[in-house]
Amino acid sequence: MFPPAPGRTVAMAEQTETAPGAQKFIPPRADTLDDLRAAAAGCRGCELYRDASQTVFGRGDAGARVVFVGEQPGDMEDQKGLPFVGPAGRLLRRAVDDARLDPGHIYLTNAVKHFRFEQRGKRRIHQTPDRVHITACRPWLVAEFARLRPEIVVVLGATAAKALLGPTFRVTRQRGELLPWPDSAQHPEDFRRVPVDAEGAVADAPPARLLATIHPSAVLRADDQDKAYEGLVADLTVAARALAGR
Ligand code: SF4
Repeated sequence: MFPPAPGRTVAMAEQTETAPGAQKFIPPRADTLDDLRAAAAGCRGCELYRDASQTVFGRGDAGARVVFVGEQPGDMEDQKGLPFVGPAGRLLRRAVDDARLDPGHIYLTNAVKHFRFEQRGKRRIHQTPDRVHITACRPWLVAEFARLRPEIVVVLGATAAKALLGPTFRVTRQRGELLPWPDSAQHPEDFRRVPVDAEGAVADAPPARLLATIHPSAVLRADDQDKAYEGLVADLTVAARALAGR
């Protein structure tokens, strides 16, 4: 069990070494992404639910050709309950347009589904999730992928890369490179099977590729934002060309 909730104004300085994880909150017959989203609203798989406003689950069509995986919801996402609706999300949408990716073909989600922050006065300052949070929340990511059939998986930044590809993957070293998915995942077997009917039958996931790039918030923090943005668009253009068969 978690220690008593410290109250919403107390900084989340205390660290949990372990967390029960999201697994037991995933219903056995959650056939659709909407079923998962509804169940995730009640997740208590780690302590992050206590101070955040709500679970921010993925959004987009189950038939999306591209799945973007980011780090965690930010302040605005936490308030609205939707991923990528804050400043980083706006920048990502612009980059998607500039890379000529069809926004209608995209599913957006995060490795961790609650906002982790430190309260400083009235401000809520983003804190990077720890490994315990990434591990606790990973069952939701695996469950989402079991209901998606992407052709390209775009990993945005180091936290998402850790969640999907393991701690040794370096975005800076392999960004913009198309890799085999799920063979490049830390536990590829987690992502190989997809449901094919409501009775629970599964089949091999169709082949997809993975591309890692920086998180759009890294562009907003960069000293040279224009250059960082161009790099993000260049990476996404690799994905757009792969989808177009070029
Ligand atoms: S961050 Fe993930 S595991 Fe932790 S409570 Fe939220 S949904 Fe559950």
